[in-house]
Amino acid sequence: MYILPKSDLPMLLRTLADRYELFGPIVDPVSGETLFDRAASPEDLRLDAPIPVNTPKFTVFPHLERILSFRYDRDSKDLDIVRDDLVRPKALVGVRSCDLNGLLCFDRFFLGQEYVDEVYRDHRRKMLIVTNTCVRPFVQCFCVCTDSGPYAAEGYDVNLTDLGSAYLFETGSEKGAALAVELGLAAAGPADAAARDAAVNHSIGLFDGQAVENKAWISRAVNRLTTGFVKPETWEYIGRQCFECGACSFVCPSCSCFNIEDVATQAGPTDRLRTWDSCSFEGYARMAGEHNPRRPVEDRRNKRFFCKLSYSQSKKYLRPGCVGCGRCARVCPGDIGLPNVVTAIRRETTGSKP
Ligand code: SF4
Ligand code: SF4
Ligand code: SF4
Repeated sequence: MYILPKSDLPMLLRTLADRYELFGPIVDPVSGETLFDRAASPEDLRLDAPIPVNTPKFTVFPHLERILSFRYDRDSKDLDIVRDDLVRPKALVGVRSCDLNGLLCFDRFFLGQEYVDEVYRDHRRKMLIVTNTCVRPFVQCFCVCTDSGPYAAEGYDVNLTDLGSAYLFETGSEKGAALAVELGLAAAGPADAAARDAAVNHSIGLFDGQAVENKAWISRAVNRLTTGFVKPETWEYIGRQCFECGACSFVCPSCSCFNIEDVATQAGPTDRLRTWDSCSFEGYARMAGEHNPRRPVEDRRNKRFFCKLSYSQSKKYLRPGCVGCGRCARVCPGDIGLPNVVTAIRRETTGSKP
């Protein structure tokens, strides 16, 4: 543990900008919204800005990405596969704990199971992550209910906690430790660790006024979903509200569904492209012969919430699939973000009226 005086934050950011593409929270001057984006200059980053409207997942899982090119000769049946190394080193600064947990879900999805996704692995290997403890939650947040914040427990290279005039600079990897030495930071002491604990506990205490009812019911909803006790009528009600727009998947830090398309180029080779996809789209589960096991919208909606809340899915990710960021509730035109789905399950369970 080290101390980074706030006056030295620009030095940290400049050091990172010298060797990485720098990404972090940037406040849009027109809308006033915070976006997680590439910084043209280190001065653009705002560590005190609210949770960004988008997630950092695009840095490891771009909206559209060529994952390889190939040439296939029909006559000789020769296949020539080219994997160009387009992945550049990136530093992500100001990542909130919920979003880091989303990236850890991605790690399990792309690296931690039967197959290893080499393109994703390149992104992650060349990445440095600086997380930022939330010393106060934002109005949409419920990470305390999904064990995903407001303090990052693991998975970062550096974690910063605002202690007033300085940040507590915690290192979680060799890269982070080397950075502390390079910056010549002073070691932190037990009083600094105690100040961090007090700041985190104070932040957790602030959730009492906002992570109420629907959010606090999440563990019960996990139980109902996992044991299959959510009634079909509840899924039908939720399905009727859904516009099938896909926004919830696109803003979710842990949604990793993708589509693959081969596109022939005029130059000759065929590009294999990966694009974001969403389980809310009718064509998502369509198979050859037009068979679609998830044609009714409610079958697609229950799949999403099963993925976010069921215990079996949590075992796969080693953490809940929902990391409590509240973004889906902000963007859903049908008002069925995750907290309201939990409300629907609570009403079904208790028999309470809307
Ligand atoms: S959900 Fe938690 S970790 Fe994420 S921004 Fe809100 S308080 Fe921070
Ligand atoms: S399901 Fe909603 S609240 Fe949960 S992590 Fe995804 S976007 Fe955030
Ligand atoms: S954002 Fe809402 S309306 Fe759009 S697909 Fe998701 S649940 Fe359906």
